[in-house]
Amino acid sequence: IIDDPDMDIRIIQDRARTAAGYQDEGNQCVFYDNNLTEKVNREMKLDTLFDESIQNGDFKLYLQPKVSLETNEICGAEALVRWIHPEYGAIYPSDFIPLFERNGKICRLDIYMFEEVCKLVHQWKEEGRKLVPISVNLSRRNIGMGNFVQNYVEIKEKYDIPDSLIEFELTESLFFNTQQIQIVKQIIEEMHAHGFLCSLDDFGFGYSSLALLKEFDVDTIKLDRQFFLGDSDKMWKVVGKLISLAKELGIHIVAEGIETPEQLICLKENDCDMVQGYIYSKPLAALDFKKWFDTYGREK
Ligand code: C2E
Ligand code: MG
Ligand code: MG
Repeated sequence: IIDDPDMDIRIIQDRARTAAGYQDEGNQCVFYDNNLTEKVNREMKLDTLFDESIQNGDFKLYLQPKVSLETNEICGAEALVRWIHPEYGAIYPSDFIPLFERNGKICRLDIYMFEEVCKLVHQWKEEGRKLVPISVNLSRRNIGMGNFVQNYVEIKEKYDIPDSLIEFELTESLFFNTQQIQIVKQIIEEMHAHGFLCSLDDFGFGYSSLALLKEFDVDTIKLDRQFFLGDSDKMWKVVGKLISLAKELGIHIVAEGIETPEQLICLKENDCDMVQGYIYSKPLAALDFKKWFDTYGREK
């Protein structure tokens, strides 16, 4: 909206272009405001720091445990990136993942994180530690990047990672485009053929569709934390039915973002398989996770 008709047309065009760059798929109309310029400047800064940070290892691997409700044992962990910049401190995924998704750098970050996970699993295997599956997030930008699975397979082989120890988390937004369904189906098949597991992340948030369960042969569904923000009877009925549907389909189910004992009780009553959330632990740096793993259950 042009508040000042005397403004230079080039500035007006520039602002319109900036706003258009932030249009997301569901949003046909976007408006410029001054906060956007600040955001653009901040993101430009982060963007220029990316290469050096990858080289210097400023992107750190954090792990958040998943606990089985049946056995009460740690049954897996999710790898989450933390950007610890020597000058700017800790930068959270919400500040940079959307940016790197837009400009495509996320693919390099994803494979970097995957390699970090493989290094760690390899090291733990050498130390004779008990291994649990680790899941890594995979941006939808990877889909359509040629034969990207092969790059992951090479790294898996380089570190001699046994099958079924790494899971890829694919977000539902991945499947926005129905034409991509066939491609994604093949990718999941290819991942399975190479000994990877697959999960559907953030299920139930945004554009989820039950039809996806019919289409995709995933091993696990992760129910999004948004699901558990309310505490109504209706919500628990929906959760309960989703859990039994997943079970009938032979799919495991993880409840994400669980914080309270009340939620845990309801999830147990509804026969949920696994829980990931602050109730057990926040995401931890790899060394802290190792300590947590070794002491978990002892104090009980
Ligand atoms: P996600 O994959 O759904 O990961 C779960 C997020 O929920 C994490 O946020 C985690 O810290 C947070 N969380 C877990 N338990 C709780 C809880 O009990 N309460 C609350 N309030 N939050 C909880 P985080 O680490 O900030 O990551 C945000 C998102 O960024 C992730 O959501 C994922 O989509 C993305 N992300 C993180 N690391 C990577 C990566 O290496 N590659 C890609 N492509 N995306 C990543
Ligand atoms: Mg995830
Ligand atoms: Mg999630």
